[in-house]
Amino acid sequence: MIRSFKYRLYVTKEQDIVLDKQLEEARALYNLLLEASIKAYKEDNKSLLGYKLNELSLRLRKEKGLSISAQSSQEIAGRITKAFKNFFRRLNEGKRGNSLGYPRFKANRRYESITFPQYPHCFKLLDEDTLSIWNVGISRIKYLKDINGKIKTLTLKKEPTGNWYAVIICDGITGKRKAPTEDKAIGIDVGLTSLITTSEGTVVNNPHFLKKAETILIRRDKQLSKKMKRSKNRYKAILKLAKAYRKTTRRRETFLHNLTSKLISEYKIIALEKLNVVGLAKNHRLSKQILDVRWSEFVRQLIYKAEEAGSIILQVDPRNTSKKCSKCGWKDEDQTLADRMFKCENCGLELDRDINAARNILKTGLNTLGRREINACGDETSVLEKTKARLVVEARKNEKRPVGRFRSY
Ligand SMILES: [Zn+2]
Repeated sequence: MIRSFKYRLYVTKEQDIVLDKQLEEARALYNLLLEASIKAYKEDNKSLLGYKLNELSLRLRKEKGLSISAQSSQEIAGRITKAFKNFFRRLNEGKRGNSLGYPRFKANRRYESITFPQYPHCFKLLDEDTLSIWNVGISRIKYLKDINGKIKTLTLKKEPTGNWYAVIICDGITGKRKAPTEDKAIGIDVGLTSLITTSEGTVVNNPHFLKKAETILIRRDKQLSKKMKRSKNRYKAILKLAKAYRKTTRRRETFLHNLTSKLISEYKIIALEKLNVVGLAKNHRLSKQILDVRWSEFVRQLIYKAEEAGSIILQVDPRNTSKKCSKCGWKDEDQTLADRMFKCENCGLELDRDINAARNILKTGLNTLGRREINACGDETSVLEKTKARLVVEARKNEKRPVGRFRSY
């Protein structure tokens, strides 16, 4: 499994200047390479990608006397190759207009990271809080000792607050989390009013301190929208928002870490709704975005922790989970969002709506494991051994992509 680890990097003033220069060079090189690729594509209908673009990248680096490393400049060519491949794939899928996503030039501040692809040539961890980076020097890193696997790449990222972060990607992460002793299963409903509701009836609310932080975030966002473009006040507001965002993200992550660790330590099978990323990404309202981030962060943590513990995460189709009776399967077609209780007209079951949904999620999840009749209360789950092959089916799909904290604002 590939995973990324993100740490704060403490740079000196001189190093900040060096890195800013490298970032600007990387952005300029990106735009030059993109221009050449677009030109080749438009004029000769040929693609200038892969190793050819790599060669051009190295040549331009030499000609312009850039200070970024040869490996970093090749990685930039790789970013463009990837962007074009995705573009061609969308073109083949018949997408047109905005959803086609033509590779775009990077404006100032839209290019925020440099990658050092070769360990230990471009960078090296000297000890647990010192990182040596090619052409930058030695920096202190807030390294939390939890890194494991084989170190592959380093990406340095500057956030809008002006702080630098080091994202280290590792391969071959081994399971190190302790697996639960009992084979217990649980279904989880993620809601708007409460954070999660489980099939066992536990309700976890969004904690008060997070609610407050998120309210401040929304207020700061509103303030920003009132500021004049390119004004000094707008810049200050951007900084304020970035700081509030960073703070909220960290608090939320910590809270969710405690929650997901607890779930993984108790349950071997966890069923939850499949996240509709495409539908969510279209929404631009900040309050909605916060919910989405919370959701995807929760799922991300559960998945990688499940891999570490060798547990199963089942992501099920969310349709009808709140409309169906979890006991007999009767469907309440007239149900609205305002109905807090689920009342079954067939078998007489009366249950909190979210608990009913969580039980349905568990039931559906276990059914996908090939078991028809199962007690949705989660007290019978010896299916584990038989289904090891299908283990973490959904999670495995993420294998090629690092599941780390790559979120940026
Ligand atoms: Zn019923």
